[in-house]
Amino acid sequence: MPDTTLDPTLDPARRSWVPGAATPGADFPLQNLPFGVFRRARTHEAPRVGVAIGDAILDVTACAALGVLDDDGDALDAARACDAPALNPLMARGPAARRALRRALSVLLGDELPAGRQALVAQALVPQAEAELFLPAQVGDYTDFYASVHHATNVGSMFRPDQPLLPNYKWVPIGYHGRASSVVVSGTPVLRPSGQRKGPDEPAPTVGPSRSLDYELELGCFVGQGNPLGTPIPLAEAEAHGFGVVLLNDWSARDLQAWEYQPLGPFLAKSFATTVSPWVVTLEALAPFRAPLAPRAPGDPAPLPYLDTPDDRARGGLALTLQVTLRTAAMRAAGLPPFVVSTGSALDLYWSFAQMVAHHASNGCNLRPGDLLGSGTVSGPVPESRGCLLERTWRGAKPLALPGGEVRRFLEDGDEVVFTAWAERPGAVRIGLGRCAGVVVPRDAAG
Ligand code: CA
Repeated sequence: MPDTTLDPTLDPARRSWVPGAATPGADFPLQNLPFGVFRRARTHEAPRVGVAIGDAILDVTACAALGVLDDDGDALDAARACDAPALNPLMARGPAARRALRRALSVLLGDELPAGRQALVAQALVPQAEAELFLPAQVGDYTDFYASVHHATNVGSMFRPDQPLLPNYKWVPIGYHGRASSVVVSGTPVLRPSGQRKGPDEPAPTVGPSRSLDYELELGCFVGQGNPLGTPIPLAEAEAHGFGVVLLNDWSARDLQAWEYQPLGPFLAKSFATTVSPWVVTLEALAPFRAPLAPRAPGDPAPLPYLDTPDDRARGGLALTLQVTLRTAAMRAAGLPPFVVSTGSALDLYWSFAQMVAHHASNGCNLRPGDLLGSGTVSGPVPESRGCLLERTWRGAKPLALPGGEVRRFLEDGDEVVFTAWAERPGAVRIGLGRCAGVVVPRDAAG
């Protein structure tokens, strides 16, 4: 773990000279430095790795070309992995390379840098407003977990009132293999899926557009360095295989899901789109916001030994606040601001990402750079912290009343769903994850 007292990239007293980075409440101060993939909008430039800082993006490849990394061989080597249309090459190099690059970029972007040098580095900055952002990694495999006990209990109680939580839940980090090809970056329109759906009173299914489209508020964790097939990852080493986190929207067609999910689990109800935020916030940037895992309730079993270390108990949690807003087409037309649907915390998760990684690889399954692990819907104990409409409106029984007079049970065409997340605590500089946004569009509008 990078110690916040020893890691100068986390020193809360330091500031960046880049406009917007020192603005209170900014998502991308000097202490964050998330990685993403960009190019200048409306150009045919090759997409490449950049680092978000304030209102700008530092082009890592351009930075290396300017010679400002020449006195740090490790950082220069890592920077060369950034001349790529995805983060996979940098991810594959493991945490030491990532940290070396982060340290060097933090020096270049800090306001201790002499003015002449700042002017040189400024040549490698691109305003975010002029950039097009891409999926940060080529996702080979995507696995979605179910790590919120509140979500699992709520959903279970709607469908199995007698036994909301299945007996394996507190022993096994439950997950399923998702679809990697339809993982898209924030801002990509989401086409309402069609499929088979059958209401409880209907004699046979019909095919048509989903009538209960939902979002799921999740954190995504990108895998950094992989593990060889057949070689499990011990929990104590799981963090060395992580790269960083993003926001993730596991769009879900509840009517398709209800009809198809037995006996093998989610399929077409979820594989039509999964949206992620463009900036991957590294484990280094999250270090000040690590916290104990949520205490298990009295009577819960202790995790089995391969899922339990004192370190994971002490700092497996992430003190991240996550928020969902909804803005309908009518609200946009009326100039109404987005409506806050829920606010939750990643501290409410029952399983840590390290436990998910260790469990995933425990049978010898190989994880690879760029693999994406979803946390599952992040829900908390109160209605205002429920991370999907299924829970928030209790399957439509308690519709949301929106400003402007509309109501929502599930998503309508034109609805825009935006996730944001941030971490803050005394003695650290607040950081944010940016935005994970998508607008629902009808099939016929997509042409
Ligand atoms: Ca999910």
